[in-house]
Amino acid sequence: MAKNEKSAISPTRAQDYAEWYQEVVRAADLAETSPVRGCMVIKPWGYALWENIQREMDRMFKATGHKNAYFPLFIPKSYLEKEAEHVAGFAKECAVVTHHRLIEGPEGGLIADPEAKLEEPLIVRPTSETIIGAVFAKWVQSYRDLPLLINQWANVVRWELRTRLFLRTAEFLWQEGHTAHATEEEARRETQQMLDVYATFAQDYMAMPVLKGPKTASERFPGAVDTLAIEAMMQDKKALQAGTSHFLGQNFSRASEIKFQTKEETYEYAWTTSWGTSTRLIGGLVMTHSDDDGLVVPPRLAPAHVAIWPVFRGDEGREKIVEYIQNFANELRDVALWGRALEVEVDMRDIRGGDKQWEWVKKGVPVRIEIGPRDVDGGVVTVARRDRSPREKETFSRAEAPAKIRAILEEQQRGLFERASKFRDENTRVVDDYRALGSFFDKEGGGFALVHWDGTAETEAKFKEDYKATIRCLAEPPSGVAWADRLLESGKCVVSGKPSARRVVLARSY
Ligand code: AMP
Repeated sequence: MAKNEKSAISPTRAQDYAEWYQEVVRAADLAETSPVRGCMVIKPWGYALWENIQREMDRMFKATGHKNAYFPLFIPKSYLEKEAEHVAGFAKECAVVTHHRLIEGPEGGLIADPEAKLEEPLIVRPTSETIIGAVFAKWVQSYRDLPLLINQWANVVRWELRTRLFLRTAEFLWQEGHTAHATEEEARRETQQMLDVYATFAQDYMAMPVLKGPKTASERFPGAVDTLAIEAMMQDKKALQAGTSHFLGQNFSRASEIKFQTKEETYEYAWTTSWGTSTRLIGGLVMTHSDDDGLVVPPRLAPAHVAIWPVFRGDEGREKIVEYIQNFANELRDVALWGRALEVEVDMRDIRGGDKQWEWVKKGVPVRIEIGPRDVDGGVVTVARRDRSPREKETFSRAEAPAKIRAILEEQQRGLFERASKFRDENTRVVDDYRALGSFFDKEGGGFALVHWDGTAETEAKFKEDYKATIRCLAEPPSGVAWADRLLESGKCVVSGKPSARRVVLARSY
């Protein structure tokens, strides 16, 4: 954007990144806060984005052999208690149901009926390993029942104290995969496979580059043997954990008695995994691509690819313009891209053209088209694209326009990924000196620091205390990146000087 141009979003990213984020979400009409503490209302434009995420991910889950099912919202307290680390990890953020009836209180208003107290409290699921484990125990009898490959689309509740739309809410929508296998090797392969599915989805659909790899012990999912994660860099250079895939070993199968008879007729506990991504992905998408004019959506997930509206000059030729728009919109709807028809919004609302234009800019629709009498007379279509300045326009003949628009959408999808990758790589640095780390985070704006670590929790705690930074993951070297090879070099820990087999990714995070 040129310096003298005003931005549609205030404050800008440079002025106040956190406020800018809230404002982009609001201006794009994605979601709003609700009267219920920590819970959000997802509005139609935001929900359509979630539906597109769901549809594409669901397809990928099914292509890797998983089937959807649904399990109860409530978990008996005793189930949660079966796995000690698991309950310790989640106890602090559980919503608990204790009664099943309300009655009139002595001073008016309703109170929980003491007569209707539950014998055993129910926990609103923060995650479903224990309830699904209890069901799997029934479903799995023999090696012939394995692998069991299940996914659930649901809401969960974690009583988070500091919440932010999409990124961290008390109730959120997600998918959770739960699988059981006959061997450790197969369960580990599944854990990695689903991490790879997440990474592919993030990069090919969200146009969001991610690093992937195991977390350190202190950042593991409560009860997991290993947690793998995908980590993305937002435009304020902080990391966002965008998805996690857990190898649970036999911890949960022991707790839930998921046992099977082997071919040799012995009995063994199954090996299980779980993996999840949530509406946080929308927050990641917003923070990866949006600019000071509002939301930018990768076309592959856009709720609509194109918005078209008329510009009338008085009453003259109105009908002709409307007809031209309807016909052209239908032609566009016949265009297939990425396996689905283009989504076109025809905006006939009676509001000023300028306001309409800015509304669509702020909503991030990839292509905007205004049709006036001159376009109709000339048989042309004038196109503006979200990845260029709002004032820049291109004119195509109507016959060539559908193909051109299709090409523009593909180019935008690619361009967004390239821009985000460039940003991430420019803000990733090898840092081998502890003081240099301080200046990286406090003076140079931070980013991903590739550092040697001695593998101890003490050193990790020191990173946090001194720089508010955490080890995001022991990243696999990403392909096509100059610094990739530096990850696997051996060296000495930046804190203790002890030997380190490889570098880890250190960053401030959401
Ligand atoms: P977990 O079951 O803890 O591994 O969580 C699975 C995924 O859900 C994480 O990788 C996050 O992307 C997401 N997530 C966790 N907590 C929240 C939250 N409070 N709000 C939104 N998304 C969340």
